Amino acid sequence: MFDFIIGFLITISLLLMIFICIVIVRAVLFVPGNKVSSKMNHKEQCDVHSMILLNKEKIIDDMSAMLKCKTVSYRDESLMDMKEFTKFQTLLQERFPEIHKKAKLVKIGKTGLLYHIKGKKSDAPTVCMTHYDVVPADETQWEKPAFEGITEKDEIWGRGAIDTKSTLCGVTEALEIMLKNGYVPSNDLYLSFSGEEEIDGSSCPEIVEYLEKAGVKPAFVLDEGGAIVDHVFPGVSKECAIIGTGEKGSVNYELEVMSGGGHSSIPPKHTAAGEISRAVCRIENKPFKRQLTKPVLEMFDTLGRHSTFAYKIIFANLWCFAPLLDILARKSGGELNSMLRTTAAVTKLEGSNAYNVLPPKASCGINVRLMGKDTVDSALSHFNKVVKNSKIKAKVISGTNPSIYSETNCKQWEMLEEVIKKTWQDVIVTPYMMPARSDSGHYCKISNYVYRFSAMKLSPKERAMTHGHNERISTDNLLKVVEFYIRLLERV
Ligand SMILES: [Zn+2]
Repeated sequence: MFDFIIGFLITISLLLMIFICIVIVRAVLFVPGNKVSSKMNHKEQCDVHSMILLNKEKIIDDMSAMLKCKTVSYRDESLMDMKEFTKFQTLLQERFPEIHKKAKLVKIGKTGLLYHIKGKKSDAPTVCMTHYDVVPADETQWEKPAFEGITEKDEIWGRGAIDTKSTLCGVTEALEIMLKNGYVPSNDLYLSFSGEEEIDGSSCPEIVEYLEKAGVKPAFVLDEGGAIVDHVFPGVSKECAIIGTGEKGSVNYELEVMSGGGHSSIPPKHTAAGEISRAVCRIENKPFKRQLTKPVLEMFDTLGRHSTFAYKIIFANLWCFAPLLDILARKSGGELNSMLRTTAAVTKLEGSNAYNVLPPKASCGINVRLMGKDTVDSALSHFNKVVKNSKIKAKVISGTNPSIYSETNCKQWEMLEEVIKKTWQDVIVTPYMMPARSDSGHYCKISNYVYRFSAMKLSPKERAMTHGHNERISTDNLLKVVEFYIRLLERV
């Protein structure tokens, strides 16, 4: 018996040592690859400088003029001031004459603009997407007016400065300069601008439909999305260019329970509001299952290699540490959790409108961000299952399924990575899963090469300005956007 216990303990110790060795060796070998060199030789550096002669004053002035257009989109479209949208379109015509001379412009839907520049070939077209509508601004909370394009201390203020008149300005400035210098793209080039992105409007899907009918299959699509950011991944302090290669679906659900109402002095055991509250607790306590999707695995694989050794142990060994990561994610919530699963946020609650009246109806609204295998329908089944209350009726209000995942093992990805590394030296380029929705999802219908990257450096403070107060962009940042697009257009 004693021999058996000793033998057992020795076996366990050996297995444990083998396990520890495997984990440590994998972590030691988990180092960055060397795909694209971020170091430029002297000749390349000179080429870049001689190539880019930007007219800083013109770019700032154009951007400021764009921000003066009050292109605010509302779900109640009767509130939209269409004159401002027309003003923006006229501004593009006036300020970018070369583009308007050399491109074919088709106006699609209510606000869509599709510019087509014929390339030397047409078999691998590129689409640069962006949108010129903005969300409303509560100007009482702003330090400066939100629609006057004020430039002060090298910053341009205005709603849309980051989201995303900056990328629109960047791509149009770049193309205008290049066309003036005789640029002809190697392949067909499209600029696809929508004025209803913030309200999930129909212009972008209509543009995609138009292209699909014309048989256009984009070989490369770039839209807003990630940016150059830092301190977004555990143990990595270096700047990272995060490129959305997939985006979550977004769907709204309503759960509702009816009751007879009545006076609150003689309440039932559970009021309708109580029943709904219990459903909310059950939903929050029973999160969706963990899923390691392609963009997230690729991000862990890229950034994990640049992380500290303690984190490398986890990210190099997800085969055994994924459950641990999941526990951490569920406990912390927030970004890590949103990368690993479909999330459900209960955002609306309604019951009685008086203290002494039992609610005849109670309801809650849930915004769900779908990921991986989860769909609009499967999440509805999930709610019905976890709520365990046949009196509660769950229904879908509106929503979309998650996008497909874009290719990363291809020359398009390598090209984007190279352009980024030449514009911002020494950054780590990584795929990531966008938790928010954008118009780019529509292009997934006609392309497997859709990338979401807002070509600018954004601090946490600047990221908070998107849809927040005091939105502004530094002039240096804006010039970099133009630089980025010049390098990109040279390669397409
Ligand atoms: Zn946007």
